[in-house]
Amino acid sequence: MTIGWHFDNTYSKLPDTFKEVIKPTPVHDPELLILNDKLSKDLNLDFSKIDKGELSKIFSGNSLPKGSTTIAQAYAGHQFGHFTMLGDGRAVLLGEHLVNNTNRFDVQFKGSGRTSFSRSGDGRAVLGPMLREYIISEAIHALNIPTTRSLAVVKTGEKVVRENLLPGAILTRVASSHIRVGTFQYIAAKQNIDDLITLVDYTIQRHYPEIKSSKNKALDLLNLVMERQCKLVVNWMRVGFIHGVMNTDNMAISGETIDYGPCAFMDHYDTKTVFSSIDKYGRYSFSNQPPITKWNLARLAECLIPLIDKNEDAAIKIATETIDNFQNIYENKWLNMMRDKLGLFGKDKNDLKLINDLLYWMESNQADYTNTFCHLMNINSSNDSKYKDTNFINWFEKWESRVLINNGSIEKSINLMKKNNPIVIPRNHKVEEALEAANNNDLNLTNKLLSILNKPYDNQNYIDDYQSPSNNTEYQTFCGT
Ligand code: AMP
Ligand code: MG
Repeated sequence: MTIGWHFDNTYSKLPDTFKEVIKPTPVHDPELLILNDKLSKDLNLDFSKIDKGELSKIFSGNSLPKGSTTIAQAYAGHQFGHFTMLGDGRAVLLGEHLVNNTNRFDVQFKGSGRTSFSRSGDGRAVLGPMLREYIISEAIHALNIPTTRSLAVVKTGEKVVRENLLPGAILTRVASSHIRVGTFQYIAAKQNIDDLITLVDYTIQRHYPEIKSSKNKALDLLNLVMERQCKLVVNWMRVGFIHGVMNTDNMAISGETIDYGPCAFMDHYDTKTVFSSIDKYGRYSFSNQPPITKWNLARLAECLIPLIDKNEDAAIKIATETIDNFQNIYENKWLNMMRDKLGLFGKDKNDLKLINDLLYWMESNQADYTNTFCHLMNINSSNDSKYKDTNFINWFEKWESRVLINNGSIEKSINLMKKNNPIVIPRNHKVEEALEAANNNDLNLTNKLLSILNKPYDNQNYIDDYQSPSNNTEYQTFCGT
């Protein structure tokens, strides 16, 4: 009865500053609700011969797998612009599971009890938000966007005190690592240069081995992280994803989407869209995501200053020039992404205008972001009267003639578009509906939603209900603790 765990826990061997060695706090009456079979297979893990009672113990941390060395990781973060020393206050890392001896994955429990980083928190998590993270992270993965994954959710059988009593839960999260911009901030704030060098080397070894022997590792690392985070945010903009809480502790060095709290997908195109109830000033609105990514990268650059150049002024100059490149890198990637969304081959000098004209039309007409691209792909060409608007028709004619440039054809364009435009996204009301049923012990809607979101680029039958935007234009998300 071997599951196939293969732990090799390098992070736990780093100096004490980096972590606290701590076990998850056992829970009263764990019950496994969801186990990700496909992900288990990808991780070479076989749970098929284990009964549900045992699985519930495993995924609650009541019974720890052999080879795990559980730790809470230290990190800091700029939360809405304010710097705080943080750390895993309600999570423990079981260790790093190796797949085929080469691919290394962090396995973490979220909601596993108090740690020395808990501050005033109870170390616990609530069922709704943990299932929400499971649903959205798996949807993001299916959209071909780098992300942490969700392996399992258990109900703890304990109540958690929030505004009222809510069912407790633990999510098993899998990530290529949990090193964050905030990890660098924590180590840099401790002002021990050896620890900073250790973190840079560790991160390079784990994520960017191609610069292991480079002359200026810190600078190269900054450039590579910038490239990956830039790609990530362009992907978010592609599908209308709003992360909602892009604090520096929620930005992974690997370039994966991490920490699904108040995130949600935009329905009608509005660059100012904010769903999070605590984001009063729109710091993390849809269109602020790129500049905030840059701002967060500037915080990473600050941490690396002592390693970029011995001369501080020179280091600051180099780091500033590096971060100033963000705009160019982003704009290029964004433009190419939008060309793919519109099925445009090659480049034309009028592309930016064509793209912006459509975005402007969508914003002025409250057109649904996802469904407008579906309309262009002739999918569910709804009778939506919006698309009969003269301005849209004029734009459409320009688009049709642009598509033919560079040996293009409508067919070729639509093929390209189908790889870049989801037909179905996690619509806010469908997510809420599934979570509400799950709270009443009914997981049917969650499972159905997961299976539809697993194939976002396929034209599935009978999913109209999952494609329409909600009528609720006041939708709000909460931080989900
Ligand atoms: P998050 O909003 O999930 O990114 O969390 C921000 C910080 O607050 C992290 O250090 C978390 O570990 C911590 N935190 C969030 N919720 C709790 C909780 N219920 N108990 C203890 N710490 C928490
Ligand atoms: Mg976080």
